[in-house]
Amino acid sequence: MSLQQGAPALNVVMLGPPGAGKGTQAERLARTRGLPKISTGDILREAVHDGTPLGLAAKATMEAGNLVPDDVMIGIVGERLGRDDARRGFVLDGFPRTVQQAAALDRIMDGRGPLVVLDIVVPEEVLVRRLATRRICSECGVNAAVEWTGACQRCGGPLVARTDDGVGIVRERLKVYHRQTQPLVDYYSTRPSFRQINGNQPPDVVTRSVDDALAAAMTKDVAL
Ligand SMILES: [Zn+2]
Repeated sequence: MSLQQGAPALNVVMLGPPGAGKGTQAERLARTRGLPKISTGDILREAVHDGTPLGLAAKATMEAGNLVPDDVMIGIVGERLGRDDARRGFVLDGFPRTVQQAAALDRIMDGRGPLVVLDIVVPEEVLVRRLATRRICSECGVNAAVEWTGACQRCGGPLVARTDDGVGIVRERLKVYHRQTQPLVDYYSTRPSFRQINGNQPPDVVTRSVDDALAAAMTKDVAL
């Protein structure tokens, strides 16, 4: 699908538990379609780095060990989606996380074309295995993608095993994810533009599934 004049905007939300490969797929999708990948984590880090009022407020909240409140996150994302580079579409990674955020996103999207929601699904046992053996870059600290062998593809540094991801911790993280995300899946799952993707496949096969799901969702939902 190309993004020539007149083509509908490609607005994508990616959902998926830790270890599902969501970040990798969001990155690939954004790159191949020429869309911005919008991650709330990145925006917050940028705002903190720039010392904006928003960044300072978010920093204080996170340092106190609290989640950034819904209205702050909604404000951040609304501002980001209002920029020019997001007019032809975007790939959202890490937002929405709550039903309140999802409802706010629907209001932001009013008149901007369909919102396609892709939920990457991977069996729990596979996630546990992936996460418990997850590696990070010892230089820049980025999480290694599953397909990285040898060295960090961001900075070339050596990859090392994470030590804090014991199986018990991993299971707890997944439990928290599902408890938080199930209401969101329920919120979206009745829409024809909601698609589940089998993430228990090699990354390139998942990428093809994502492309197929987008093509199907866009054909059906252009009028939404
Ligand atoms: Zn690195």
